[in-house]
Amino acid sequence: MSVVSYKCPNCDGELVFNPKTQKYRCEYCASAFSQEELDQMQPEGAHQPRPEPESREQENTSSMEPEGNVYRCPSCGAEIVTDDTTAASFCYYCHNPVVLFGRVSGEYLPHKIIPFAIDKKQATEKFLEYVHSRKFVPKAFFNKSQIEKISGVYFPYWMVDMDMEGSLQAEGRNVRVWRSGDTEYTETKIYRVERTGDIHLEDITRNALKKANSKLSSGVLPYDMGKAQDFHMGYLSGFLAEKRDIEKEELRTGVEAEAREYGEKILRDTVHGYTSLSVKSCHFNRQRANWDYMLLPVWTVTYKGRDGKIYYYSMNGQNGNVYGELPIDYKKAGIVSGVAGLVVFLLGLIGGFFL
Ligand SMILES: [Zn+2]
Ligand SMILES: [Zn+2]
Repeated sequence: MSVVSYKCPNCDGELVFNPKTQKYRCEYCASAFSQEELDQMQPEGAHQPRPEPESREQENTSSMEPEGNVYRCPSCGAEIVTDDTTAASFCYYCHNPVVLFGRVSGEYLPHKIIPFAIDKKQATEKFLEYVHSRKFVPKAFFNKSQIEKISGVYFPYWMVDMDMEGSLQAEGRNVRVWRSGDTEYTETKIYRVERTGDIHLEDITRNALKKANSKLSSGVLPYDMGKAQDFHMGYLSGFLAEKRDIEKEELRTGVEAEAREYGEKILRDTVHGYTSLSVKSCHFNRQRANWDYMLLPVWTVTYKGRDGKIYYYSMNGQNGNVYGELPIDYKKAGIVSGVAGLVVFLLGLIGGFFL
């Protein structure tokens, strides 16, 4: 069973990706290495083994079976039990970061990754800032043990670029009204409007993990795709990561509908100068669609409220944009609305007095 942990070339300690420096830091001797330095120091593929095609297949079938969810920690030998979709995690016993090789290789090899640019300390500060700017958040949501649970997770997404050839037929109307003596004249000119054009759409994004909260996973978008890197497993070291369990076939119809909607809007927006415009038909020939499988960084905290509901807070791990659904402490909120109610009641009484 292949579990990869990233070892320091100097001392064999664990290497962890550091968002601040964008380098790998050794937890023990504090050395730092860039991806390029590691590539040079170690023979090709030594720290990131490439499997034979046959073993690749084995990897994928074995991860389907329940026993595929038990891995062995390369540092302490303890068992690491994972979810079906876990791609990177930590050993429960020795806290050694581990990457599950079979889940980020073969057909699950991500095309690109955006590495974390915000580290845990910054994420925690921003989280507290955000919570304090909101009212009536229960203390339990941001107490110390809760804050420690803030985790950096790479979530799987599909990213689609599309080239389409579109044509739009519409009817434009120009209406002119004027008066001469007692008679009002209305003149309606009807135009046949046609537009054709090549349309390029970029970065149509879809969540690729069933168990991900859909609001959370779309709430943190968008990312600056210009900063996407070629995938290296090392980026996952020190973080959690999930592999996709939603395939593009399941998303194709929805994505194509969204693309047509955008396309029609783009063509329509090129038409000017009519009082009204009604679209008669709009057709697209899809020339090319490119689907990229990507891992994107998110800081998350979840919290189970007293009402049993799970609340999510998440932050874009690249730019710090926050998406949150915060619980409300009804005791705190109740006191304030009680006071407000009393004021209204008093005003009512005063009003009544004067009547
Ligand atoms: Zn070291
Ligand atoms: Zn261990």
